[in-house]
Amino acid sequence: MAIDLTTNLAKVRNIGIMAHIDAGKTTTTERILFYTGINYKIGETHEGSATMDWMEQEQERGITITSAATTCFWHDHLINIIDTPGHVDFTVEVERSLRVLDGAVAVFDGVAGVEPQSQTVWRQATKYGVPRICYVNKLDRTGASFEFVVKTIRERLNATAAVLQLPVGAEADFQGVIDLVGMRALMWRGETAIGEDYTVEEIPADLQVAAEEAREELIQVLADNDDEFAEIWLLAEDSGDVIDVPTIKAAIRRGVLDNKFTAVVCGTSFKNKGVQPMLDAVIDYLPSPLDVPAMEGFKPGDETVVMHREPSNTEPLSALAFKVAQDPHLGRLTYVRVYSGILKAGTQVLNATKGKKERVGKIYQMHANKREEISEIGAGMICAVMGLKDTTTGETLADPQAPIILESMEFPNPVIEQA
Ligand code: GDP
Repeated sequence: MAIDLTTNLAKVRNIGIMAHIDAGKTTTTERILFYTGINYKIGETHEGSATMDWMEQEQERGITITSAATTCFWHDHLINIIDTPGHVDFTVEVERSLRVLDGAVAVFDGVAGVEPQSQTVWRQATKYGVPRICYVNKLDRTGASFEFVVKTIRERLNATAAVLQLPVGAEADFQGVIDLVGMRALMWRGETAIGEDYTVEEIPADLQVAAEEAREELIQVLADNDDEFAEIWLLAEDSGDVIDVPTIKAAIRRGVLDNKFTAVVCGTSFKNKGVQPMLDAVIDYLPSPLDVPAMEGFKPGDETVVMHREPSNTEPLSALAFKVAQDPHLGRLTYVRVYSGILKAGTQVLNATKGKKERVGKIYQMHANKREEISEIGAGMICAVMGLKDTTTGETLADPQAPIILESMEFPNPVIEQA
């Protein structure tokens, strides 16, 4: 599946999944690849019934994530999932990944809530201004409490939380979520991955009341943090009009992008409940490469000359290498994020950091179960490059005619890791 990179950069999400060890980062990532794979399949065959067969096959084969960046598709969007280590010991690695992603999903354990390591990663993300949504996982566990986890997000992370969902049922009886924006209930009964959609009128009266209250709270958070929304809200209060869903979504998006608050959703990855609406939230609320500030860099040899590169294919090439891995089949693979211009296979580029020319070999987009060779890749995108001999983590690749060194963090001891 190809998307037109020149016009659709707004439909690209470069995200990381951050989590304390054991909160369910691996399971959640696998389920994302799993659902986006189903999506891909349905898109190709137009056969919804193929879903379960495909799911069983894939479960047998097992989806594993071995890439530093995996590309998948959700609806008509392209999502690059950048590997973000969960170990607090890898602070440098975390910072390195935070450098190349535009937004993140923070996964929390539904019983433990925010744990100390999550606080560390959260602070790093705050330092780099990375917009985040929170996914409260493992709500099927005994002792899980969505309210408690939201409380820990507020208290331990000192974050303003815009709660977008309410769980339906708890622990073993966790069945689904109420989407407080659209006021619909999404239910996954039994072990089936196929959600059922209900209007709020179709759910029990006590849940309806709870949902109305939670929605009021959400509206309040939006009004407190967004003047534009506050004005619409006041007018609506006066006139008795209902604020429409796109207006609410736009306010949530602005708040998340400006880091005024984090949006909170929930589920259980293990039981396949809540992952799809979480992916919808990634699309709806996390930034595209067009939503983040232009990349800054300086002229090689003269750090006082600051330059900016817009995320556009018409700008000169600038790209940052963020991981070098040894692939069992391909050999040395350099993962890069292209910030501006187009990276083309078979061309010469300048490693501006080292002042050395490098030849770009093959370019790949890594998917869950296959790698796809592509001839070129544009601004805002992430790929793996073969053939770069001298480029290490943190170094800039640039157009030899327009050299730039991208503002980069310290990357001590660049190592080649086994993929
Ligand atoms: P990671 O260390 O953050 O990558 O966590 P994993 O995805 O490896 O999950 C840690 C453990 O929690 C594994 O045994 C998973 O099967 C389990 N787990 C993950 N998600 C859920 C969930 O939603 N519910 C329950 N009950 N267990 C889960």
